[in-house]
Amino acid sequence: MIGIVGGGLSAAKLVESYRESGGDDDIVMWSQDPHGPYHRPPLSKRLLRGEQTPDQALVHPLDWYTEHDVDLRVGQTVSSLDEVTADTIVIATGARPKHLGDALVLRTIDIYGSPSEKVLELLRRKAELLGTASVAVHDRQAGFARFVSAPVR
Ligand SMILES: Cc1cc2nc3c(=O)[nH]c(=O)nc-3n(C[C@H](O)[C@H](O)[C@H](O)COP(=O)(O)OP(=O)(O)OC[C@H]3O[C@@H](n4cnc5c(N)ncnc54)[C@H](O)[C@@H]3O)c2cc1C
Repeated sequence: MIGIVGGGLSAAKLVESYRESGGDDDIVMWSQDPHGPYHRPPLSKRLLRGEQTPDQALVHPLDWYTEHDVDLRVGQTVSSLDEVTADTIVIATGARPKHLGDALVLRTIDIYGSPSEKVLELLRRKAELLGTASVAVHDRQAGFARFVSAPVR
């Protein structure tokens, strides 16, 4: 059995490639995020511009994982590798942004359709994004007016 800790793009693509290349081991994927794996770039681009719905940012629809024999356990955090019983363990937990005071963190899809939507509305009007330099460069191309780049430690 393959145990994957993390449910982002890396985890989803790993599973996709493994199945496409004929891998047939059982797979369990734990993701503390309550949604299935999704693409984060739309959070600061198409979703922010209202050109996409959160569902459209999913890497695969949720039933794709069932169809590909993946036991996707959303909303579950692995606190220790002792909790994971598997022949192979993949750690795909990504990175966490540094929180700076009460600055809005544009990181999870939950921000859309939540009270933070009001803050996003402000962002849409006067974009002032905190993030990594690379994200800021991409988002500059997406049409925002002003950027504050902060290193993520
Ligand atoms: C707003 C934004 C815009 C971006 N735009 C671009 C772009 O234009 N181009 C580009 O190349 N990249 C962009 N990125 C970066 C890109 O999204 C990341 O490189 C990518 O998401 C990394 O995927 P990952 O699966 O490695 O990690 P993550 O996406 O961080 O996923 C890790 C997952 O693991 C889960 N997890 C973590 N710890 C645990 C645990 N202990 N137990 C269970 N689950 C756990 C997390 O909840 C998360 O769902 C952007 C990122 C953001 C936030």
